[in-house]
Amino acid sequence: MSTPTPTREAVDAYFAQAAEITVAAMRAGTGGPFGATLVRGDEVIVSVGNTVLRDTDPSGHAELVAVREACAKLGTLDLSGMVMYATCEPCPMCVGVMMWAGIRTCYYASTRDDAAEHGFSDLHLRRFLDGSDTSTMDLVHLTEDRDESAQIWTEFRALQG
Ligand SMILES: [Zn+2]
Repeated sequence: MSTPTPTREAVDAYFAQAAEITVAAMRAGTGGPFGATLVRGDEVIVSVGNTVLRDTDPSGHAELVAVREACAKLGTLDLSGMVMYATCEPCPMCVGVMMWAGIRTCYYASTRDDAAEHGFSDLHLRRFLDGSDTSTMDLVHLTEDRDESAQIWTEFRALQG
């Protein structure tokens, strides 16, 4: 499914809104230099800044916050058909959350290199995920004596009826 290409004026407006809230959040000390506007059709659902500092939350990236707030506002886990306008190229976490929510289009302005130049590199995530440097996290699969985990699947199936 593809979404219609927005007009230049619409793109400008969505980015302007994201940039405005980003600057406000930075000045208020609530978040870093990132913002996002999430749009359905020509309706702005949410426009948010990064909330990492406000919430003492390393996951408070603007795109993730936008997804979280939009889902809560609309009472759904499905944001398919919506379009994200992010002031900066999304990190892998935010790409992930957009994909979990069904968002298939994200326009961004600044790049990962711009962010890195200002101290916000996500290269460690990208290298971990592409397998070129897995030294940053030990993901250890425990295979023995994990009966509780198997029981969760049994319980889940039972609850599905
Ligand atoms: Zn992110």
